[in-house]
Amino acid sequence: MEILAILVAAGRGERLGAGRPKAFIEVGGRSMLAWSAEAFEAVPAVDAIVVVVPEPERARARELLAHVTKLHAIVPGGERRQDSVRAGLAQVPKGFDGIVLVHDAARPFVERAVIEAVLQAARESGAALPVMPVVDTVKRVRDGRVVETVERSELFGAQTPQGFRLSCLTRAYAAADAAGLTVTDEAMALEGLGETVRAVPGSARNRKITTPDDLAWAEDVVRRGGLS
Ligand code: C5P
Repeated sequence: MEILAILVAAGRGERLGAGRPKAFIEVGGRSMLAWSAEAFEAVPAVDAIVVVVPEPERARARELLAHVTKLHAIVPGGERRQDSVRAGLAQVPKGFDGIVLVHDAARPFVERAVIEAVLQAARESGAALPVMPVVDTVKRVRDGRVVETVERSELFGAQTPQGFRLSCLTRAYAAADAAGLTVTDEAMALEGLGETVRAVPGSARNRKITTPDDLAWAEDVVRRGGLS
């Protein structure tokens, strides 16, 4: 086994207001979790998929992913995203020395090209993630007042999958733990160590479904027949 994908789906998804964990919400008649798992199943280089879900949803996840042949394990997540990633990492087989891809299950339409670009850059450099340029003018706002305009040319939104040599990621997580740091993505843990994290082009389709508007967009993507 050389490439292992961890799909994190243990968030509560409260901003979506659907009353159930976000990854279990259906888009075009299929859960976001299934969309994401199928995206990684379809990439030949990916050997195995570990799925991290809320404990009460494990049986449901098993049903939804019964057809995913690369499924390696379904495990319960933790309080913070990094706790969920750690639960996934605990499933990595002993002696594994390859690349781990960590993906938000809430990005159901990740394309093969994005996954493969991250993989290649992670193989070359140890760590990589897809990014999208920020298109709006960006303001720093404090207490309802604009403090400054932040130079936009160097700002990018981070997407997933984020890919790492396993040794890189475990070292970064240990350091984040030692510093008592809560990280919002895996790359952030590595930045603290001064490690190089390569940025490759992300895609508009690889949008994270967070709000009801995002969900309406996702339904529209499926309806227009871009994905089936
Ligand atoms: O909350 P947010 O949209 O940033 O979550 C990104 C991804 O991380 C989602 O797929 C969510 O299910 C996952 N997550 C998790 N465990 C947590 C928090 C978030 O698996 N405790």
